Amino acid sequence: MTKDRYTRLKAIKEFGYDINWDDLKKLHTGIVGIGGLGCVSAEMAVRCGIGKLSLFDFDNVDIVNLNRNMFKEGDIGQPKVDVASQILKEINPDVEIQCFNTDIMAPGFESKFEYEIKQMDVILTGLDNIPAREYLNAKCVLFKIPYIDAGASRSGLSGYVHPIIPYKTACAKCLSSITIDLPDEKGESCVASLPSTMAILASIQIQEMLKYLLKFGKMVDYVMYHMITGQFLNYTTLRDVNCPICGNKTQRDKKDVKPKVTQKELEDIIEKSNKNG
Ligand SMILES: [Zn+2]
Repeated sequence: MTKDRYTRLKAIKEFGYDINWDDLKKLHTGIVGIGGLGCVSAEMAVRCGIGKLSLFDFDNVDIVNLNRNMFKEGDIGQPKVDVASQILKEINPDVEIQCFNTDIMAPGFESKFEYEIKQMDVILTGLDNIPAREYLNAKCVLFKIPYIDAGASRSGLSGYVHPIIPYKTACAKCLSSITIDLPDEKGESCVASLPSTMAILASIQIQEMLKYLLKFGKMVDYVMYHMITGQFLNYTTLRDVNCPICGNKTQRDKKDVKPKVTQKELEDIIEKSNKNG
């Protein structure tokens, strides 16, 4: 057998999974948010041999970002997507990398953003604020683009990964009443962050991406990781028929229909996590 840079990845097939690793070369992943999560996900996607990667972030590298993976002191002041793209190209020149140094919600960018995401097989999110997360959720549902949402709590001590297949699984808005405490638009974009928590969440995100793109294994529904207790908690989510984004339109205007809360126990855990954090 001839060796290539994917030999060890292709060897997984020998353990009973019918995976054609070379399929990844034909596929396109978008990563929205090149922060503590997105950097790690991007590097792993490139090392695994994704065909094309599109990166979105409007921010520049700041000294406070250096506790996370990827960026170096010399990168301070440079756009995150440009620095990441350079590093990723050096890691694997076979991957086509496209960068967008812009806020995905910038008014002039909407039609371009829609055009770009429609080309993607899957999107990974590492966003640090609720408005951008809701915007992306609405666009992915509208165009039926599968995406794997992930985020860390403000304490940096817990987080979640939630793969979303529009109209098949619960979208981010279906679960908006139980989301973890991402900062809102008025708050600081980030309060605390642990690179280890981010790397764990990014790793789960990439595992789910690989299973989805290469069609093997069973995807998680919603997983929470809590660093203080070391627990991974798996939840089953349900689509909300009254969801304003993916719900049944005929039900949408019935004001007397209460949203179905399916994740009460998650709320309790998140609350506890926040108190501890
Ligand atoms: Zn929904």
